[in-house]
Amino acid sequence: MTMMKRKCIYCNQPGGVGKRELRPYGPGGSDVCAGCVFDGPPERKIEAEKQFAARLMCPDTMILDDREQAGPRPMTAREKNELYRDVDKLDEIRMDSDKGSN
Ligand SMILES: [Zn+2]
Repeated sequence: MTMMKRKCIYCNQPGGVGKRELRPYGPGGSDVCAGCVFDGPPERKIEAEKQFAARLMCPDTMILDDREQAGPRPMTAREKNELYRDVDKLDEIRMDSDKGSN
C-alpha cells in the first residue's frame, strides 16, 4: 500500500515545517500550507477560518494530532475505545482510594 503524499492545493508542495505546515482548511477540507493561507489572497484565510470553525462545531470528540499536521479532527473509534478504557481505569483507581480514606 502506498501512502498518498499530502500537498497544498494552492502551491502543490508537500508539507513541511513553519509556513510549509499543512492543515485541512482548504475548500472542502483540502490541505493548504500556512504560507499560502496567510500570505495569499484574503479569501483563503476566510475559507480556512470557516473550515476550522466547522471542525469546532462538530458534536464528535475532537483530537489534535500534530503528527498528521492536521488540525482538530474527530477521534477514530479505536482512539475513543482507548480513551474511554483509560477513563474507566481512572474511575476504578479513584473509587479504590475513596474506600481507603474512610
Ligand atoms: Zn501552499
